[in-house]
Amino acid sequence: MINNKLLLIKPNPYHGESLTSFIQRVSELNGLNPHFLWRTYLNGSHYPQSQVSSIINTVPETIFNILAFQETVGINQDRLENLTFLPALRKIYGHDKSALDLSSQRIMSSILASNLRYCPKCIEENCYYRLIWQVKELDICLHHKLKLVENCPYCQKQIPFLAPDSIVGICPHCQCNLICQSSTPIYSEATYFRASEDWSFLLTSDIKSIVHGDHIDPKQYLALKLLFIISGKANTFNKQHIVNLHLPCSLSVLLQSARGTCSIKRFTHLGIILSILRCQNVSLEEFSSIKLPESFLNSLLTHTPLLKDQYSCIAPWCTSFRKPGSLKRTATSTKQLEDGTKLNYYLYCHSCGTEYAIDTQTNELVERGYFIKLAWNKVRHLILEGKGKRDIAFQLGISLDQSLRCLVYLISNNLIPRHYFNFLIPNIPQPQIVDRFLLAIKNSDRIKDLKKILNLPYTEFLYYWYLPNVQVAWLSTPGKAKKKQLTKQWIKEFPEAIKQLINKEEPITIDKVSKILGVNHETLRSHGLLPQIAAAKKHQSDLQKVKRGEMLINKVEEFIRECKQNGTAITSDMLYKNLKVRRTVLVRTHPEITKYIHTILKSQQI
Ligand SMILES: [Zn+2]
Ligand SMILES: [Zn+2]
Ligand SMILES: [Zn+2]
Repeated sequence: MINNKLLLIKPNPYHGESLTSFIQRVSELNGLNPHFLWRTYLNGSHYPQSQVSSIINTVPETIFNILAFQETVGINQDRLENLTFLPALRKIYGHDKSALDLSSQRIMSSILASNLRYCPKCIEENCYYRLIWQVKELDICLHHKLKLVENCPYCQKQIPFLAPDSIVGICPHCQCNLICQSSTPIYSEATYFRASEDWSFLLTSDIKSIVHGDHIDPKQYLALKLLFIISGKANTFNKQHIVNLHLPCSLSVLLQSARGTCSIKRFTHLGIILSILRCQNVSLEEFSSIKLPESFLNSLLTHTPLLKDQYSCIAPWCTSFRKPGSLKRTATSTKQLEDGTKLNYYLYCHSCGTEYAIDTQTNELVERGYFIKLAWNKVRHLILEGKGKRDIAFQLGISLDQSLRCLVYLISNNLIPRHYFNFLIPNIPQPQIVDRFLLAIKNSDRIKDLKKILNLPYTEFLYYWYLPNVQVAWLSTPGKAKKKQLTKQWIKEFPEAIKQLINKEEPITIDKVSKILGVNHETLRSHGLLPQIAAAKKHQSDLQKVKRGEMLINKVEEFIRECKQNGTAITSDMLYKNLKVRRTVLVRTHPEITKYIHTILKSQQI
């Protein structure tokens, strides 16, 4: 440890100076080698190494003992830490040390330069290195309108932040002077305006933290705030608002961070934060002052919004038109249509009975029937013009039946005045028929059966059928759209895999089966296949036993034949020796063979 008195000269840091620059100046003024000074205030087991010296300016604690250094130089810790990126990192990551270490390591690589960059003019005017030069995106000096220099102009080498004999303004490799070197002028600094504003806020503002969620984990709160910005500062979170937004990260990761459901809980990367805020034109200062509305937090945290709640009915006549909450799920899952479009997530509106599905490619809610696109949008206008169902069918190129169905639908749902269609349908629904309809729906799964039970004229049947409450009753009764569970390919191949092992006489094990099918043990277990594998194993060992038994019997018979030919008397010992099995063993595995041998020997004695 350096004696306090050994530092004869104790300079003050300059405004915006970096800690490594300050260490170089302290060393030079006192005739010391900067790595010697670093070694004196070493933290952790790392030896001073030029290539990791950038860390002194970001998270000094990991390699440099600021606490001890402050005593020697007589500058307090806060002032020393202001020479590093700690104030910026703490604004986001708080004082959580582990988060700070981890996150800053990630950030450094992408946001901060790992070698010195400098403005020759700045050094000429005032001989120290500025901390801000380390920010990659700010590769200019706004003061002199010059591009920052990244290499030594003489030896072309990159300059580490703290080399063994670093002196500010001198290249540590070739000792040439870095001052007064020419640099490329820049013509427009406009693009740097936002970045420089952000970094000046991060490094100098008094605001201690931009994340402060009352009872919420700061990692989550940060992601929640970003989602709030992305969804246009709406009172509740709505995925539909952000569908077309280009995000610098995946939305689902952001959602997981916000809900705290990530496997590894992390702070959102500073690069992503800055990118989102800039894109949405929100300043860091504004961002830090945002307090999330309770309703917004609830919409994201109390429950995962179900897909059905993110959409709303699009039938213009429906009382729930564009109001989320009326859509319910049916039991149908994915379906591939003939034109190749894949629909899944079947829904119906609980208010008007319109059926929907979500197109998996566009995420759009699409009507499954044709009552919005045809009945409401086209047929209705033609009827109001006085056209009949035949004209309508002809004009729209639809079948007569479709035309009739559209007409009846419009009347059942009171979408056209009753007098436009005045035959074969009642003026108002008869309650007893509606009741019969509802009862029939309870008891049958097919429309064909309904027709039979109700026995109404076709148009009248349609009239009741299209009543919203009848449609809703039909759609909400389970079993109407049976979920079709696809048998997975590998399950189909399961018997074949077992057969294959038996044929090859390879012992059946869970491991072997899972390898053949390409699924893991857990999958086999969850599909209830382990007992089947155990049974196959037992079957296989039984088969093997039978085979071995047959083989042994053959051997016994052959031996006896040979003995008879030679006229040799057979003894029990000779037989077992020939079989290469001990009797005691054979009794256990194949008792029937020992019995057989016993009989032969006995008959021979007679
Ligand atoms: Zn400059
Ligand atoms: Zn050089
Ligand atoms: Zn509706």
